[in-house]
Amino acid sequence: MKKIFFAASMLVLISCGTNRDLSLKYASTITAEELKTHLFIYASDEHEGRETGSPGQKKAVEYLKKFYVKEGIASPLGGDNYFQEVPASFIRTFPRGRKLNDSENVLAFIKGSEKPNEIVVVSSHLDHIGMTQDGKINNGADDDGSGTVALLEIAQAFRQAEKKGHGPKRSLLFLHVTGEERGLIGSDYYAQNPVFPLENTVTDLNIDMIGRVDPKHKENTNYLYLVGSDKLSTELHDLSEAINKKYTNFEFDYLYNDEAHPSRIYYRSDHYNFAKHNIPVIFYFNGIHEDYHRPSDTPDKINYELLEKRTKLVFHTAWEVANRKDRIIVDKAVKKEEKSE
Ligand SMILES: [Zn+2]
Repeated sequence: MKKIFFAASMLVLISCGTNRDLSLKYASTITAEELKTHLFIYASDEHEGRETGSPGQKKAVEYLKKFYVKEGIASPLGGDNYFQEVPASFIRTFPRGRKLNDSENVLAFIKGSEKPNEIVVVSSHLDHIGMTQDGKINNGADDDGSGTVALLEIAQAFRQAEKKGHGPKRSLLFLHVTGEERGLIGSDYYAQNPVFPLENTVTDLNIDMIGRVDPKHKENTNYLYLVGSDKLSTELHDLSEAINKKYTNFEFDYLYNDEAHPSRIYYRSDHYNFAKHNIPVIFYFNGIHEDYHRPSDTPDKINYELLEKRTKLVFHTAWEVANRKDRIIVDKAVKKEEKSE
């Protein structure tokens, strides 16, 4: 009897697998090769630098939509509408800026099996800065082609898990926002017109530039800048650190986490539009390099092994936030931006 019971419980253990095994199993579907294939298309000349509202940007979003349709990952907007329209009237024009056309955010969704109303957002920006005045294409492979293709691979990993009966407990929203380069427009629009109530939005993991190495880390490339993780939730910060120790062992650099840092990175990417609504965020970033916002930010310069490992870190973190028993707790007050410009 005892023996049979032991055998039976072993069988249960083996068939379910531990949470760690599962996270590792599905993370293994994220590969340098697939990231590279996506990025050489997404950051190709055909997309003309993905200026917000431009024909090149419109082609780029079709690529994202086609991917989600092929993978069988639904849109939260229903049917085959993966685009949240961001009207030109919302896209602020700058004193010297050109008027930009209507644009769109791209949304894909995997419904949670136990707490479907709690939403974990993984985000990156789909746009870039278009062409130079003398007609050169800013491919934006790192900025933010790297984050964009990371999202595709993370979504695919969660979808594979779902197909095998290991879908996330909480829902996942894959949010590709437009207009980041023109002032965080797409994420601002989403936060003002959320598809799911912001009070049910648990966390935003935002990725902007994770495929390169900055001058400070030329010697030790096993690093990543993290920004914002401890600003609203001690729990999220501790979880993020623990996940890194368990799976990836990056050297986390918190230089830009200081709000007083002159670069003011905490306020400069899309996560801030979630943070200001009291939603805990982590921003993943490789720092500024010599090809930043230049036509030389091309896909051949990406370190794909590093991109794979960084993408896996975000996947494991999202897996934990989505599958842990309790929702991440906000235990700190939101810090509002002090306008210094
Ligand atoms: Zn960017």
